[in-house]
Amino acid sequence: MTDSLKTYRSKRDFRKTSEPAGDETPPAGGHRFVIQKHAARNLHYDLRLQVGDVLVSWAVPKGPSTDPRTRRLAIRTEDHPLDYAAFEGVIPEGEYGAGTVLVWDQGDYRNLRADKDDDGTDMAAALDEGLVEVWLEGEKLKGGYALKRIRGGHKPQWLLIKMDDDEADARRRPTSTQPESVKTGRDLDDVADEEEGD
Ligand code: MN
Repeated sequence: MTDSLKTYRSKRDFRKTSEPAGDETPPAGGHRFVIQKHAARNLHYDLRLQVGDVLVSWAVPKGPSTDPRTRRLAIRTEDHPLDYAAFEGVIPEGEYGAGTVLVWDQGDYRNLRADKDDDGTDMAAALDEGLVEVWLEGEKLKGGYALKRIRGGHKPQWLLIKMDDDEADARRRPTSTQPESVKTGRDLDDVADEEEGD
């Protein structure tokens, strides 16, 4: 059991929601990322990076951009269990985050700061410092992304910015043109319809 999942668990009633409780022993190693599209009270995209045995998480109201000139607000949220990365379904009415979730993108990532000779900062230190630079190998998103903390406090505010590399593209709008799940091909309505009554 990871102590950093205390907040995650305290917000949820696992008799009611089908989200994972995170009480399984996580597999060692790996640098997975997932972006979940979440139609809660407000639609947003949850970016989660595996750091150790949890998914460090941000809620991105407008979703990721592939344009380096676009800064997207990303609100740091509670760490999630690793098996949350596979969660797709409906969080029932009255539960925390009630609404439909689909796996919008997934893949592996690399910590770009650790790769640099003059930096070498690991993910835990990068999070503490408020500057994360990762290379995403997703199905929809690829390339460098920076996360910069602009305000601390209870719900820390960060900015999610596409780094200017060969994968940057100011014209792409993947949140509009590729709305479906990379896991099941379903859109939000499909997930909501098929999971109803579970
Ligand atoms: Mn969410």
